[in-house]
Amino acid sequence: MSLARSSRRDVIGGFALVAVAAALVVIASVFYLDALAARRSVADIDAVRIASARVSAVDAVARAGGEPDTSTLLADLATLDADHAVLLDRLEPAEADHAAEMLDSIASCGIMLADGGEPMADAHPHHHVDELLTRAADLAGADADRAEWRAGVAMISAMVAGLLMTALLIRSRFSEFQLRRALLRRADTDVLTGLPNRRVLRETLDRSPGHGVRRALLVLDLDGFKQINDVYGHEAGDEMLRKVAQRLSRVSRAQDVLVRLGGDEFAVVIEGVPQGSTAENIAARYLDALVEPIAVGGTVHRVRASLGLAGAETNRPDRMLAEADLAMYEAKRLGGGQVVRFHEGIEDSASRAATVIQALRTLDHEHDLELVVQPIVGAADGVAHSHEALVRWTDPTLGPVSPAEFIPLAERTGLIIDIGATVARRLCASLRAWDEAGDGGHRVSLNVSPVELRDVDFVDRLVSTIRSHGLATDRFTVEITESAVIEEPELVAERLRRLRAEGIRIAIDDFGSGYSNLAQLLSVPFDVLKVDRSLLLHLSGMREANGGDPSGPCNVMSAIVEIAGTFGAPVVCEGVETAEQLASLQRSGVTFVQGYLTGRPAPTPIRHSLAHEPTPA
Ligand code: C2E
Ligand code: MG
Ligand code: MG
Repeated sequence: MSLARSSRRDVIGGFALVAVAAALVVIASVFYLDALAARRSVADIDAVRIASARVSAVDAVARAGGEPDTSTLLADLATLDADHAVLLDRLEPAEADHAAEMLDSIASCGIMLADGGEPMADAHPHHHVDELLTRAADLAGADADRAEWRAGVAMISAMVAGLLMTALLIRSRFSEFQLRRALLRRADTDVLTGLPNRRVLRETLDRSPGHGVRRALLVLDLDGFKQINDVYGHEAGDEMLRKVAQRLSRVSRAQDVLVRLGGDEFAVVIEGVPQGSTAENIAARYLDALVEPIAVGGTVHRVRASLGLAGAETNRPDRMLAEADLAMYEAKRLGGGQVVRFHEGIEDSASRAATVIQALRTLDHEHDLELVVQPIVGAADGVAHSHEALVRWTDPTLGPVSPAEFIPLAERTGLIIDIGATVARRLCASLRAWDEAGDGGHRVSLNVSPVELRDVDFVDRLVSTIRSHGLATDRFTVEITESAVIEEPELVAERLRRLRAEGIRIAIDDFGSGYSNLAQLLSVPFDVLKVDRSLLLHLSGMREANGGDPSGPCNVMSAIVEIAGTFGAPVVCEGVETAEQLASLQRSGVTFVQGYLTGRPAPTPIRHSLAHEPTPA
């Protein structure tokens, strides 16, 4: 609001100058009146001087015996009769008194002459009076000059003040104009990124695209942005949003309207999809714009986004926006980092996700969350080596909700951090109760989401939970999914190193489930490699395709065992359901297996301990 302040300052300055100018005009007027009075004094003194000279002249002519001209005598006497004190006060007091005396004497002589009397015996020293009066007139003239000069200066100053006042008032009007313009622009602009805002989007959607012009709406939401704010602070979050806005602007076509909707949400009105192209192609440009990692606050981040696309099948902007939103939501549900176009089926799944998120927000950890454990057994001997903790949620209204459904939503909303803390606490309490029941020494593993891992306090919190239950950290393994490692290798590696330094072991979970970059995956410290069920199924499928020859798939699994072995890490194979699978894995040298064949996830052996946690040691 600096424009408003400067405008107000100008107005105040303008009024101050008005006051100064008015005072200067008054002062100039006073000086001018002084000058007028002084000029009048000069004229009056001159009149007295002329009158005294003429009376002296009449006297001189009469004294010389001539016939004096007395025609002006009476008028001159009237002039001399006036009070000369004011006229003479510029002279020295002695001179003024002398001049007044002589003027009185000349006036008396004139009266006698006018009455027909004799002239004075001696001539008046008229030239002396003349001299004094001339000096008095000069002094009055000098006073008048000075007063006029002062009046002139005051007047010019008043005019300058007036000009300044005018300039300030013009400037204030201009500032107001600028302010109004800035406010208007601000109403249309997102302050953080400088992009147009939601208002502009509305206006654009309200305008008809024109005959034959194909329009689409894209809504883009960053994946996992909340964590950047939570972990690196709001300034980093703001910087990230500015950089994302720059990236998006770079790929925006001239006819596209790119806006920031708020938070980490952007939208693009795609106007005029070119022939032979699709809105998806244009949407892909925006997705690609974020492929290069973005450096914020000294850390490089891989940014992903979920994009929802809606066509102009409907003419209602509200509907179009809602459809693009639902599609974006679906893109998130499918794992993010992709474009999804709206279709009818989306509405159900998106509203289900919204319902689940709503239920998660009001989740009662104590009553609605349960912990189950699944044994990880030796492939050769079937002996339980450790137990993996898996969370179960039963919502009073929705019923049981699968972790595969709610964990990604809890991650997206950041609620996973609290859920993870509850799981860790419950697991420690169970393990403690297990020990106290005399069945001690078990190892456990727990799943940790990348969102939890990004939290700077995560390691300290987990270690203090374990220690507060009087347990040793080396009985714990943290399972971290391979996708987390791939997405943020530096951060994950740092956290994993800290966990290991505390004695906690690391397992890479779901290995082979996605787009593993093996080199990158193996660059982080780990103690166990857990092969995903999907890879096992894939290998089983290959074997069937090979007419039952197990050597090919077996070689793949053996290779994985060998690679893990070079890091000193045993392999756990997940999702083992059949004896055949187990036999094949045994041949491949897999150390541990986990699956329905060897033990389903089940409540912890000391179940009552979940509801009544023992007092931590
Ligand atoms: P995960 O860590 O890979 O866990 C293994 C999943 O496979 C579990 O699913 C388990 O029930 C299931 N499973 C085990 N053996 C078999 C089998 O033989 N056949 C089949 N078909 N499935 C088997 P669940 O419990 O639904 O969990 C799914 C995923 O949710 C987990 O995958 C894990 O990534 C995540 N999750 C579960 N609990 C937690 C938790 O407390 N915190 C976090 N962050 N994630 C969790
Ligand atoms: Mg796991
Ligand atoms: Mg797994």
